[in-house]
Amino acid sequence: MSKPRKLQIPDDRSERLFYIKRMFPQASGPDLKDAWHGGRHEAQRRLSGMDALAYERNHHFLNGAVTRLSPYLRHGCITLNEACNSIRAKYGAKAEKLIFAFAWRDYWRQVWYRFGDDILSDMEAAKVMIGHDPLADDIRNGTTGLPCMDGFISDLLTDGYVHHHARMWFAAYVLHWRKVDWRAAADWYQEHLLDGDMASNHLSWQWVASSFSSKPYYFNKESLARYTGEKYCASCTKTCPFDDSYDGLHIKLFPEVIPGSPEQHKVDRPTRPAVSTQTALAVFVHDEMLSAANPIVQQSLHKIFVFDDHLHGKWSLNRLQFMADCLNEMPEVDVWLGDAREVLAERGIGQVITQATPNQEIRAMLAPFSPKWQAEPKLVDVDISSKRLKRFSRYWDKVGPLLMGNAEYRQP
Ligand SMILES: Cc1cc2nc3c(=O)[nH]c(=O)nc-3n(C[C@H](O)[C@H](O)[C@H](O)COP(=O)(O)OP(=O)(O)OC[C@H]3O[C@@H](n4cnc5c(N)ncnc54)[C@H](O)[C@@H]3O)c2cc1C
Repeated sequence: MSKPRKLQIPDDRSERLFYIKRMFPQASGPDLKDAWHGGRHEAQRRLSGMDALAYERNHHFLNGAVTRLSPYLRHGCITLNEACNSIRAKYGAKAEKLIFAFAWRDYWRQVWYRFGDDILSDMEAAKVMIGHDPLADDIRNGTTGLPCMDGFISDLLTDGYVHHHARMWFAAYVLHWRKVDWRAAADWYQEHLLDGDMASNHLSWQWVASSFSSKPYYFNKESLARYTGEKYCASCTKTCPFDDSYDGLHIKLFPEVIPGSPEQHKVDRPTRPAVSTQTALAVFVHDEMLSAANPIVQQSLHKIFVFDDHLHGKWSLNRLQFMADCLNEMPEVDVWLGDAREVLAERGIGQVITQATPNQEIRAMLAPFSPKWQAEPKLVDVDISSKRLKRFSRYWDKVGPLLMGNAEYRQP
């Protein structure tokens, strides 16, 4: 474990990317692309340029008008409320599908708040036999020989962004055709996504696996060819493993009937230094609140962000550079590299104020500093019971009418 060091993030973008590369020699992957400038300014620019009507028509297509807002929402550059309110103000009920999409993020997050680390194990018994193979190198490297899957892996490894439909196809391929353990796949996937988020990611993998849904998700060639505009199929020379009817694929993929019992995955908490009691109060800026507009960040107290060895140590280079862009717009925040506890203890911090999070790793890390958790803004001001959190459809029955401002509103 290296001694904490203070980082001086350069204002110049190319110097900044280079600096982060030097500070994190272990981080894998290419530099952050120009198209992915992190921070609130870019988030707001994307939001105001969003065409929600085009989204309604074509978001299922790989070249559809999706928002690409997820990394900005993940890091709190803008809040889900801001995004939702802005779209509702401009489009009203015509933006139904986009509001529905935002609600998915909120749903997974509520599940995370309610179930904590349990989301890292099977939420329920899978409804079909799922596999437990390790993640093979041809998947990690994008050399499966299938142009579609290798293309989706290349998007992940070079861009850090993958379209939602492609994420679903890829997860189904990995879990149902290759029988990889969902947790191994989800952990790896999250390290490379600019929007990598424990809830949206791990629970989506479980949704595909069927350990948090009523049936497994899988697809066939016809569907993939349609929504990709044959982009991959046209150059494919392989015998297509997806070329069959849904019934035919079901028989091939899930010949065994007996689903197992829920699989428990161990959660490894890192050993962190014990710290002695101090007195000073500071704002701890964690990786879900990277915006100078965040009311907690605006408090006139010492503000500290730490690229923490345990939290961010395995993240790809472009993820770290994305966060550095965000932090560059927050000049009052001191940025450190090391173990967050050591950084706080060495600064004489006895208590931190920070934004509430369902991330148990952050909560455990800050526990010795008697954190004052300030609630994050709610998408809708309503209590959602555990029963409602069992399935998105039940959550939406309650939340949809409130978000759409229409008591009669039902699922799209
Ligand atoms: C296997 C798998 C892994 C995923 N991992 C992540 C992850 O780590 N982080 C993450 O933010 N999303 C994840 N998603 C959800 C979804 O794919 C992305 O949020 C979405 O593709 C981001 O692109 P976008 O911003 O252009 O989305 P848009 O289609 O433009 O949607 C707008 C916003 O709505 C939210 N949203 C839309 N669909 C979903 C969904 N199904 N679940 C959660 N939020 C949604 C996102 O915040 C997104 O930015 C995953 C989905 C799958 C199937």
